Amino acid sequence: MRQPLVVGNWKMNGDRSGARALANAVAAGVPRGVEVAVLPPMVHIADVSGLLSGAAVDVGAQNVADADEGAYTGEVSASMLAEFGCRYALAGHSERREHYGESDALVGARFRASLAAGVTPILCVGESLAERDAGKTAHVIARQIDAVVDAVGAEGVARGVVAYEPVWAIGTGRSADPESVQAVHAGIRRHLAAAGVDTAAVRLLYGGSVKPGNAAALFSLDDVDGGLIGGASLNADDFLSICRAAVKGDRTGPV
Ligand code: PEP
Repeated sequence: MRQPLVVGNWKMNGDRSGARALANAVAAGVPRGVEVAVLPPMVHIADVSGLLSGAAVDVGAQNVADADEGAYTGEVSASMLAEFGCRYALAGHSERREHYGESDALVGARFRASLAAGVTPILCVGESLAERDAGKTAHVIARQIDAVVDAVGAEGVARGVVAYEPVWAIGTGRSADPESVQAVHAGIRRHLAAAGVDTAAVRLLYGGSVKPGNAAALFSLDDVDGGLIGGASLNADDFLSICRAAVKGDRTGPV
């Protein structure tokens, strides 16, 4: 049984008061029957985590160090995140892979460090437009997943979450069509199973221009267990509407 999960990735947006206001607005309207998490910029995590301590909204981080402590200037370790109440951390968001050259191996190490500190990693995978046009979607995603299987084994992967985010759909307003999302997600589940991962409990999120208007169609797909939401998570009304769509898409019954 997989409880739907909707995660709001605030990216590098908002000042301190804006982060507090957004967190409060989300907490005030979060529906039952879906797990909801927000990922503020690092400097706002302590504030947001404190505000949400009694609320049904989890907090997470947009990235996590591959080591636990030491001379890693600019990094924040998973145990530090855990101390500030983080339940989740992204590993391998496409903006990290693209703008900061994060390799599959580094993403695997970030995923491993996160697991080790008890912070659930959310592995982001997805193809670029050129890769999609070249028919390489499944190949690229398999490579990204296999690096994490190499780092933590099948049992480790089963303790995380996987988010399929076609790079060409992120922040572009152009979401993947439901049919191809379902096909890719089913392929991810098959690939994980072939690697020895017990996929029954692994949640597969879709991310890429999810909006209130397309969320229900995406979340009702068999192999979609919720979403990773960027732009629309910065507006509490839009984000909460997306969260409600995930409840409707829940095929597992009341939670
Ligand atoms: C993201 O950043 O993970 C994302 C999916 O962004 P957007 O919803 O804006 O496409």
